[in-house]
Amino acid sequence: MFDLRLDEVREWVLSRGYRSVAIQMPEGLKSSAPRAISELSRSTGAVFILLGDPCYGACDLHPRYREFAQALVHFGHSPMPSLGVDEDVLFIEVFHQGRLDDRLQAALPRLGSRVGLLATVQYLPLLAEAEEYLARNGREIRVGRGDERIAHPGQVLGCNRSAAEGVEDDVDCYLYIGEGDFHPLAVSLGTEKPVLVFNPLDGSLRELDEKKERMLRHRFAVLQSAMDTRRFLVLVSSKTGQDRSPVARQLMEQIHRQGREAIMVVMDELSPDRLLHYDVDAYVNTACPRIALDDQAAYRRPMLTVPEAEIVLGLRRWEDYRFDAILPSQQR
Ligand code: SF4
Repeated sequence: MFDLRLDEVREWVLSRGYRSVAIQMPEGLKSSAPRAISELSRSTGAVFILLGDPCYGACDLHPRYREFAQALVHFGHSPMPSLGVDEDVLFIEVFHQGRLDDRLQAALPRLGSRVGLLATVQYLPLLAEAEEYLARNGREIRVGRGDERIAHPGQVLGCNRSAAEGVEDDVDCYLYIGEGDFHPLAVSLGTEKPVLVFNPLDGSLRELDEKKERMLRHRFAVLQSAMDTRRFLVLVSSKTGQDRSPVARQLMEQIHRQGREAIMVVMDELSPDRLLHYDVDAYVNTACPRIALDDQAAYRRPMLTVPEAEIVLGLRRWEDYRFDAILPSQQR
């Protein structure tokens, strides 16, 4: 169902004469690593080394791959243009191979006349087919270009919905093509327009209203429990694409200005165990927003996103609640 495009990797390695190549893959693709490495080693004569730590996105590009190999092949994610170009790194986006055919028919009665199309990287090839089908059925289609964190029109990351925001004024609703709730929830809680989700794997269609309400109720409870925080731990990721040190420093200033306490901690991988040593009332997570929103139950203290910390500090109203987003301008 997903094609690793090993022919392209082989051509790239041979044309550049690399003798050693490191590989990064998200967890969902790692079971394909032994076969891929064996095929590539045989067809190129180069040594391939799997960098086995978890890999969450292009934000997580291995910073020290040159210590192990001459080049890096990063599977499963699009490059982040804002992070610059390294000629010795090849991104291999891994696309879903299926088609939509007429399966969007059920979506037609639930879509307005102007539709914004969105997808995660795996399903981007389906956007052209969706656009053609919906246009044929009388819809005006917009596919937004995101900011410099986004490689392709219509692409959404869990931390960046700029492709949706760019066309918000021109659409009545969004049609999101992909699995899972996090990405469309990021759009739903970051814009004012409804989001309809189509899962191309099982053909299901769903709205997000109930999940959105549940998520908001949960985050409101987390916020309430953090309102009287005296001591904050402000968390910064050392992963290149998640490092928001400037935002963390601004929050530190605000916290201190209010006579509250905070220390800033930089780490590569955030986990509940790693925070056990700190005697604080709440964490502020400036790294990947998914950590606070997906994993709160695993942490001993309230884990606030950046907009949530702003609410606790009185810098933002609850009515202006937004899903956190990482913007290129927030990075160093
Ligand atoms: S910061 Fe989080 S949501 Fe954004 S690309 Fe990285 S892993 Fe995905």
